[in-house]
Amino acid sequence: MTNEWDAVIIGGGVAGLSAAQMLGRSRRRTLVIDAGEPRNRFAAHMHGVLGHDGMDPRALLERGRAEARAYGVEIVEGAVARLEDAGDGVLVHRADGTIDTARAVVIAAGIRDDLPDIPGLSDAWGRAALHCPYCHGWEVAGGALGVVMTSPAGIHQAQLVRQLSDRVTVFAAGGVPMGDDAMGRLAARGVSVVAAAVVGVAPRGDRLVIATADGEERVLDAIFIAGAPVLDLAFADGFDLARADMPGAPLDVDLMGRTSHPRVFAAGNVTAPFGNVPVSMASGSMAGAGVNAVLTEEDFDRAVAERTAERNAGWEERYAAEDRFWSGRVNGSVAAVVASFEPGTALDVGSGEGGDVVWLAEQGWEATGVDVSPTAVRRATALAAERGVEARFVVGDGVGSVVGEFDLVLAGFLHSWEPDFPRIGMLRAAADRVAPGGRLLIVSHAAPPPWAREVPDHAPAMRSPAEERALLDLDPAEWEVELEEVRKRAVTAPDGSPAELDDGILLFRRR
Ligand SMILES: Cc1cc2nc3c(=O)[nH]c(=O)nc-3n(C[C@H](O)[C@H](O)[C@H](O)COP(=O)(O)OP(=O)(O)OC[C@H]3O[C@@H](n4cnc5c(N)ncnc54)[C@H](O)[C@@H]3O)c2cc1C
Repeated sequence: MTNEWDAVIIGGGVAGLSAAQMLGRSRRRTLVIDAGEPRNRFAAHMHGVLGHDGMDPRALLERGRAEARAYGVEIVEGAVARLEDAGDGVLVHRADGTIDTARAVVIAAGIRDDLPDIPGLSDAWGRAALHCPYCHGWEVAGGALGVVMTSPAGIHQAQLVRQLSDRVTVFAAGGVPMGDDAMGRLAARGVSVVAAAVVGVAPRGDRLVIATADGEERVLDAIFIAGAPVLDLAFADGFDLARADMPGAPLDVDLMGRTSHPRVFAAGNVTAPFGNVPVSMASGSMAGAGVNAVLTEEDFDRAVAERTAERNAGWEERYAAEDRFWSGRVNGSVAAVVASFEPGTALDVGSGEGGDVVWLAEQGWEATGVDVSPTAVRRATALAAERGVEARFVVGDGVGSVVGEFDLVLAGFLHSWEPDFPRIGMLRAAADRVAPGGRLLIVSHAAPPPWAREVPDHAPAMRSPAEERALLDLDPAEWEVELEEVRKRAVTAPDGSPAELDDGILLFRRR
């Protein structure tokens, strides 16, 4: 069975639930899959979390789940076994065989603290064997405290612990051999250093007995010890996510939780193993917002693509409904402007039935026409054959499907009655295809034809060349305006009477 979600969050700790809250509040269909083993599950109280000081970490998660569910988030117990890239989404395979599809995933699976293999240590973990002076130091301040070094960073931890008590013993065997400098610093503040390895930890009431390899035993109120951070991200192996160069090799993310894969976000300890609950909540919240931002952008992109396809289908329908739409002759204004140019390569954007392109080919141009209507392109190709010239026609939207630069890019009467027709954007894209020294020629209706003064209210304005130039906003350092004028063109009105059209001419040359 496959379930479809906007976002699937892997891990329902504080990071995952914070992401879920943002996504739920953004009305995103969100699923949290949680294996139920948050990193701080060994501790009965939580500190350093503003507004929740001393709270049971489980109570915070319970509240977080209730809050997320109130915004429609679904939360299930389970483990994610594998992620699979599906191009426009991610397939999330659970260990029980369920498959969820998500437009984006947030990895908030936390870390595991890999403790040294000291008998009795894991039983004391989170109670009298503590990982962080900020989270649990105050509660044991002033007591007899130990710091068991597991890496060179243990010195740093020892200094922090000394801030809490003047009775501190450092068990140095698990770190690198301590140099004179470090020994001197610790001694200067009355910290004793034990060189023998710790071989056992056992409870005695609320206290701990620390046994060392030299046969000594010391009774302490608590020890601080840093486990090595382990990220268990085998489920994301296929994604080759970039890692940061720090202990545990966490996922490398930006401020919005973006990983190196566009549909994979990450938050919490998987991105910052040193992070506490507030840091993890903050990054979860940002990742949730990051996912929503990306999905929102994608929703708009998709809507635009659908609208464009609909509009293009409309053009095809119009061409297909008639045997022939246009005259097959070149537009008089186009011919008048282009006549004096040295032929080269030319592209006509919106070439219709090919009248202008075929004329260009007849003048010696290597001419290409692009149009959204396959019917128009077929007719244009037939017209070139009929007139015995070589011209290339392709089906495409704007300049999108045509590669390369051209000496002349022509956009003749690239109009639509539809108010959301992206004319200016298409003209800018056309300008991008002009080769250095080449020209962009825009010929347009500067006013409606005299027989159609009753234009629909919603129709886009027919603009003067000056107005179009201002909207196009091409960089004057790069573009020189060679022509900007309205030319009258004599035509025959639909009722057979003579009439004149206002053709707007805008000719740029790329410097
Ligand atoms: C003993 C101890 C005490 C601590 N005390 C404090 C404290 O007092 N104050 C403080 O600020 N910080 C404290 N911390 C740090 C705190 O635990 C972390 O900062 C925090 O838990 C990180 O949140 P997270 O959401 O990233 O990961 P976690 O809280 O670890 O949550 C990750 C969740 O993802 C789940 N998961 C993992 N893999 C999968 C998978 N494949 N599929 C589905 N689910 C998965 C896990 O089971 C877990 O439920 C403590 C840490 C420890 C070790």
